[in-house]
Amino acid sequence: MTAPLIDPFQRTIDYLRVSVTDRCDFRCVYCMSEDMTFLPKKDLLTLEELDRMCSTFVRMGVKKLRITGGEPLVRRNIMTFFKAMGRHLDSGDLQELTLTTNGSQLHRFADELYACGVRRVNISLDTLDEKKFADITRWGRLENVIRGIDAAQKAGLRVKINAVALKGFNEDELLTIIKWCEERDMDLTWIEVMPMGDLGNEDRLDQYWSLEDMRKTLRETFTLTELTERTGGPARYVRLEETGQKIGFITPLTHNFCESCNRVRLTCTGELYMCLGQEDMADLRAPLRESEGDALLEDAIRNAISHKPKGHDFDYSRQTVDGQMTRHMSHTGG
Ligand code: SAM
Ligand code: SF4
Repeated sequence: MTAPLIDPFQRTIDYLRVSVTDRCDFRCVYCMSEDMTFLPKKDLLTLEELDRMCSTFVRMGVKKLRITGGEPLVRRNIMTFFKAMGRHLDSGDLQELTLTTNGSQLHRFADELYACGVRRVNISLDTLDEKKFADITRWGRLENVIRGIDAAQKAGLRVKINAVALKGFNEDELLTIIKWCEERDMDLTWIEVMPMGDLGNEDRLDQYWSLEDMRKTLRETFTLTELTERTGGPARYVRLEETGQKIGFITPLTHNFCESCNRVRLTCTGELYMCLGQEDMADLRAPLRESEGDALLEDAIRNAISHKPKGHDFDYSRQTVDGQMTRHMSHTGG
């Protein structure tokens, strides 16, 4: 083990999110355009390179790895990588290995993921209506995702549903989705839509459903208790007293959560983004490929962390989208 990664604002970086592919079998409207051009294969880190990269981070103090994308489960032979990361769980160097998925392929991999040491999975799902699901994901089919959720739960994986809050789209399903999660014993987190993807500014402002407004609506039905617990991430939680459910809210736009940020993001081409909302990144692929040893890579990682910015600049408050990112979420990994 080497010295832990600490950024200029004294935040310990122990959480790495890794995008293993920019590809996806869906085309969610807030994330991708319909005619996406994907990266040439040679630009992607190979599974062996991803292993080397992540293992270096683990050696440098990363305790939690979240695998994402694009859709991580469409990457060929991705289970080889999960198995490889499982060895860090076995050694105790890594505390958690998890993934964020659209669920479409989960029925094929749920058991294997469990066998690799994965215990929790985040599944993105914004609606329980088949037609609306097909509209928002463009290419997705709800029944496949439900099949994936069934398989995950059967395999023993704890499921958390991530739903993007979209005005005029799933507002009317708020209570239905909450009840469905309660019945299936799944956690639920709502995410405010961020200024990314392909929709024009105007559309995205139209779709912006503030989670403050959502709380107000929830108070019409439930007694909400704000919970002080933090999981090191951006989510804030409330408990619905009537059901005992804990609901998470990720509000990158109405609340700045940067002060407790413990994470960095690695893209599938080996770029390290220190902040989801800033363009600044470090290329780790070059030092990785330059030598067989990891010394250059370690230097590049330390140097990158020493540039981690204090926070991001998203702001909808002036009715324009300031700090808008040109990058797609599928590129940085959500
Ligand atoms: N394909 C996987 C999935 O959908 O879960 C993993 C990658 S996806 C980019 C990760 C998360 O980012 C998903 O929960 C998705 O809903 C979210 N996301 C994508 N674009 C977003 C946006 N513009 N605003 C907020 N969340 C977004
Ligand atoms: Fe694919 Fe996930 Fe983006 Fe949807 S949100 S297009 S499932 S990467």
